[in-house]
Amino acid sequence: MALSNLENLMTTYAADLHVHTILSPCAEVEMIPPLIVARAVEVGLDIIAITDHNSAENVQAVISAAECTALKVLPGMECETLEGVHIVCLFDEVSAALKLQEVVYSRLPDMPNRPETFGAQFVVDEDGEFVRYNDRLLLVPTDISMEDLTELVENLGGLAIPSHIDRSGYGMMGIMGMMPEHPAFPAVEVSGRITPSEAVDRYPDIADRIIIQNSDAHRLSEIGSPRTELNIMHRTVAEIKTFIAGRNK
Ligand SMILES: [Zn+2]
Ligand SMILES: [Zn+2]
Repeated sequence: MALSNLENLMTTYAADLHVHTILSPCAEVEMIPPLIVARAVEVGLDIIAITDHNSAENVQAVISAAECTALKVLPGMECETLEGVHIVCLFDEVSAALKLQEVVYSRLPDMPNRPETFGAQFVVDEDGEFVRYNDRLLLVPTDISMEDLTELVENLGGLAIPSHIDRSGYGMMGIMGMMPEHPAFPAVEVSGRITPSEAVDRYPDIADRIIIQNSDAHRLSEIGSPRTELNIMHRTVAEIKTFIAGRNK
């Protein structure tokens, strides 16, 4: 098929690929599946990814909550690497996110959460009803290097994108001061605090990369702002990877 015909099949989708739920200790209690889905639909999003800190235990609940809507929910996780950098990891299959979770849980310090300090970590069902607490400390670095994490995510068919690279806390530039040569990270996320062009001015390292923006929402009002437009045929991580690879040529 000619390229122009292929382009005709593309749709521009509004995506927010970094949304937390009530499982993240720093998220508001309103971040439950039905309310997240309703808000995402209300603000015109076509795709969201659920990316809790070092866990994917609420992913399936949000996917189930979105089943009767037009919203696509991608499984994901925001991992903290050995270096203290946050990386958004995205998948097409819940099973892949859960495989990453298995590795992450084995590489986190085996310590209990301190709800009074960090906040409670709730596992909920698709209606937002309490299932159980996740009692392990999630808001800490794993001992997985960013290179090993990226390889692991790629082997699971996923996509790894450094989160909010401009932030001093947990951001690649704030922590490392530069983009690493390996892994290549063809896409990076900048926070809503700066525009992509301001980010390129500040960090020339990222000029040849795809820059995306997500909300990193910890409360409902943050969902969808900022967001990224993706020009793809189907709302899959596989196609997002192709979109990124194509735009990088
Ligand atoms: Zn983060
Ligand atoms: Zn986050």
